[in-house]
Amino acid sequence: MAQVRVRFAPSPTGPLHIGGVRTALYNYLFARKNKGTFILRIEDTDQARFVEGAEEYIFAALKWCGIEIDEGVNEGGDYGPYRQSERKEIYRQYAEMLIDRGYAYYAFDTAEELDKLRTDSEKKGETFIYNALNRDRFKNSVSLSDTEWHARLNAGEPYVIRFKMPADEEIHFDDLIRGHISVNTSTLDDKVLFKSDGMPTYHLANIVDDHLMKISHVIRGEEWLPSLPLHFMLYRSFGWTPPLFAHLPLLLKPDGKGKLSKRDGDKMGFPVFPLYWPYGEKARGFREDGYYPEAFVNMLALLGWNPGTDQEIFSMEELIEAFSIEKVGKSGSHFDPEKAKWFNHQYLQRKSNRELALEFREILRAKGYHVDIVNLETVVGLVKERVSFVKDMWNEADFFFKAPETYDQEVVRKRWKNNTSSLVTELKTVLHDIQSFTPEETEKVVRSWISEKKINAGEVMTPFRLLIVGALRGPGIFDIIGWIGKEETIRRIEKGISAIAK
Ligand code: GLU
Repeated sequence: MAQVRVRFAPSPTGPLHIGGVRTALYNYLFARKNKGTFILRIEDTDQARFVEGAEEYIFAALKWCGIEIDEGVNEGGDYGPYRQSERKEIYRQYAEMLIDRGYAYYAFDTAEELDKLRTDSEKKGETFIYNALNRDRFKNSVSLSDTEWHARLNAGEPYVIRFKMPADEEIHFDDLIRGHISVNTSTLDDKVLFKSDGMPTYHLANIVDDHLMKISHVIRGEEWLPSLPLHFMLYRSFGWTPPLFAHLPLLLKPDGKGKLSKRDGDKMGFPVFPLYWPYGEKARGFREDGYYPEAFVNMLALLGWNPGTDQEIFSMEELIEAFSIEKVGKSGSHFDPEKAKWFNHQYLQRKSNRELALEFREILRAKGYHVDIVNLETVVGLVKERVSFVKDMWNEADFFFKAPETYDQEVVRKRWKNNTSSLVTELKTVLHDIQSFTPEETEKVVRSWISEKKINAGEVMTPFRLLIVGALRGPGIFDIIGWIGKEETIRRIEKGISAIAK
């Protein structure tokens, strides 16, 4: 394979959607796998859609994911500038080159005129098209006499440059994922390449830049597949060898069909953006929801690509090693918020107790609890299996830090018998006499007391947990009391008995 050079080419029109992050990721994996170069190009030629903050968001999101850029706006490189608005001067000469060669023309139709024609066609139930079939009915350098269109140009009349799509030609090209594609050019529009504001359109700028930046493979979302015939024609008209194309399947809604949208996330309570978006219509982010970037990247990699084995957990290095375009599917992938949580759960289990304790300590501090890190490691070790996010640890571990204020009334009604108070009072004395108050020792002593008394373990252990935790939840009771200590255990038993007696 020739030198691999791929690019991620987002437009800064809002927060980068997870579909965009996946495109960036696949480009990155492909570049690394093939010892190639990963380029970030900002496509900001549509000034009307430019959104403040969107560019910084792109940089931050890729960074959070661990996607490293080799050439780009901030990194520099031999093929810059990497922001299209700074390449403005380059595009006009290419548009004019196409005119000179007869592959493009000037068009003077105003937006109002075109709008009217579009509405008229729609009224008749027809789709409006501007191409070889009706080009001569519009005001352009093909239909007007040479003297007239020159006069218009010289008078400074606003114009656009359109591509001159040939009439009725069957064109053929390939996509690495979709396979062979053929299209008849009479179904295609004479797309605008250069706008009256002096800016190129996406199509022209994208092709020129991919060529000048020596892009070898264009890996992008399926929403660009309809543009591929035009892009193919542009390469042909310039006389350039096109890169290889791979159009990635769409990311679909969890239920039913259709593209995953921000609204689905809002409705069903999951993020569809990597990071929180703080401007205008705010949006939640995977990062702020407590996802680890490794888990997020792992989840995203498997939305559309499959390794061909059962392996599900991949580090970035393993993804690079295993990735190939051949294993990217054709059909859309359903985004599954539960599976996303599952990935985070897996990554959380793999974190050391120290790392988790450091994270959890922040949450506890905010609640006013200051706990020694070594003791906290024990707590997170006991509850981590039950959570997918560190922020959920509080709900699973609150009773380590504070005595219950209420007691599950349902349990009290069903399990607190006439003799329960005297049983747990006796248990209190048993616990009081234990010298080394470790989980192992307390368990041994309590179990042998239960068997001496010839009672059912549940008769005493259920009320015991209720007194310590306030409900029937949490990890092993001996682990809990070992952590809170003898004094606190006894205090909770006494407090609970009198609270329940009332
Ligand atoms: N600027 C386009 C976008 O926002 C790039 C499409 C492409 O990769 O060609 O997705």
